[in-house]
Amino acid sequence: VLPLAALLAPSAAVPLLCAWGAIQAGFTWALLRPRGGLLGPNLERAEVEPARIALTFDDGPRADGTDALLDRLAAAGARATFFPVGVRARACPGPLRRAIAEGHGIGNHTQTHPLLWAAAGRRRVLAEVGEAQAALADATGVTPRWFRPPMGHKNMHLAEALERHGLRQVTWSLRSYDTLLRNTGRVARRVLRNVRGGDIVLLHEGLADRRGREGAGGGLGLLLQGLAARGLTPVTLDALLAGPAAPAAPLPRARPAGAAPAGRAS
Ligand SMILES: [Zn+2]
Repeated sequence: VLPLAALLAPSAAVPLLCAWGAIQAGFTWALLRPRGGLLGPNLERAEVEPARIALTFDDGPRADGTDALLDRLAAAGARATFFPVGVRARACPGPLRRAIAEGHGIGNHTQTHPLLWAAAGRRRVLAEVGEAQAALADATGVTPRWFRPPMGHKNMHLAEALERHGLRQVTWSLRSYDTLLRNTGRVARRVLRNVRGGDIVLLHEGLADRRGREGAGGGLGLLLQGLAARGLTPVTLDALLAGPAAPAAPLPRARPAGAAPAGRAS
């Protein structure tokens, strides 16, 4: 309407087009922002949780990487949640079955990980979510209850897909930047510098294969040691976010008033 009004009233064209541009920019910001719930509910962290966090690994599974990741987690007695891509789960179900057997969780991360997820139409969104849900259930026998959008981008048609499959959208409260930082030690140190109880930490699988450098998996030992030193236990998203169904968390120390970490930049 605003561009049409600008055509019909040239004298007011500049403010009308400025208003139209501002609306477009605001809507684009809401679509591309990983955190925030302007376009539907989005879980980012557990609000009252002093001693547990969730490590999440996106974009697997990898025939040459996921087992090593599971070895490191097992050695530390840590649990994580994996957000595999549906087509990769179909091609390589073994590591996912092992992950489930060893107490880890899985979530839906779409069937093909579309780069233009924010612009995907209704049919595409329903297909991506539904096909991934079936692929993960076939691969593991477990039906996911969490959904993480590609790149954390939002989509106007997602709510219908989530409701259809009983999924809840979850992004993260702490980004590791393992897709950007070249040094795995820096990835671990960045997470350890910022992590707090209740955080959901974003990590990725398989970066070494795709970009010729080692991803967060290489720094995972350092990360797990640092978390233990801080008294933080990595648990699954189910355990961290399930509310009354989750095991009661110990309360080793009181959180000072005003120290709630919500809203922290990541
Ligand atoms: Zn991803």
